Amino acid sequence: MRHVLVRLSIWMSILLLTGCLPEDTDEQLSVIHTVHGQVDAREIGFTLSHEHLMSNFGMPIEETFEYGETALYSQVIPYAKKVKELGVNTIFDYTANYFGRRVDILKTISDSTGLQIVTNTGIYGAADDRYIPDYAYHETSEELAARWIDEFRNGIDGTGIRPGFIKLAFDDGEPSEIDTKLFEAGVITHLETGLTIAVHTGSNLAAVQTQFEILEKYSVSPEAWIWTHANWHDDTGFLLSVASMGGWISLDGVKEENTDEFISRLEAFRDAGLLHKVLLSHDGDAWPMGGEIRPFHAIFTHLLPAMRENGYSENAIHQILSDNPSQAYSIKKRIIDI
Ligand SMILES: [Zn+2]
Repeated sequence: MRHVLVRLSIWMSILLLTGCLPEDTDEQLSVIHTVHGQVDAREIGFTLSHEHLMSNFGMPIEETFEYGETALYSQVIPYAKKVKELGVNTIFDYTANYFGRRVDILKTISDSTGLQIVTNTGIYGAADDRYIPDYAYHETSEELAARWIDEFRNGIDGTGIRPGFIKLAFDDGEPSEIDTKLFEAGVITHLETGLTIAVHTGSNLAAVQTQFEILEKYSVSPEAWIWTHANWHDDTGFLLSVASMGGWISLDGVKEENTDEFISRLEAFRDAGLLHKVLLSHDGDAWPMGGEIRPFHAIFTHLLPAMRENGYSENAIHQILSDNPSQAYSIKKRIIDI
């Protein structure tokens, strides 16, 4: 881990010395892409930055596109309405292609609930590669990126619905060739589209290092990158060091029973002046292969009351649940010009 920290801090020094951290410019419109099209990023409202309206995670890859839609809607829509009534305006859906992404279904849920829903492009490399299609092994990172760029430009599965971010994943252990290639394809896609790259990384610090090396190779800022499941890593100090370089830290495992843990994580970010780099969510699922709902409302029923007790102002809460995802997912190329 020390090696990773040294490596990251060297790059950070270069960025600071050369004054090359990216800045917002007025010329770039801040927008996000929902399943209903482009929206001003400032209109995002309270946002859950990593959930699943439905998924078929666990099924064989060839079966993951099929849902019993009538039953799905009867479970998902009432729950999604309840979540909306609690104050949620936008949900980023992390169900990737090949484990259950169906943008037509997401659009119906959005129509029925009024929630803004954002879907993704990319390929999920974790779960021992079971959701990687065969072609990904034969194609180059440029060819894979071309597929994702095409979804960005022309829409997904003929629907005209465009992705709002790139979803990728690393398995545990030393980063594999395929997971690394998929990430490189994501970085190439970012350079063409400005889509943010959200990567299931968990506690895999070797994967953090590999990703930073590839970001650096393409001169893409860590501002374009979300460390998904960062809360799986115990060392909050390390998360702070990555946040201070611009990486987005996704604390996406909130449950009713773990609010104390999340309060102490947030305290560390508040003390370090880095609350503006935190994304909060549950990684819930309203239709996990048709099973019981894995809830995504504890932030509103449990964590926010605890935050208020701990002195978080409404402004601070708004920053974490609205301003941060607005910034993180704004479609914008984040290039380091050294
Ligand atoms: Zn997830």
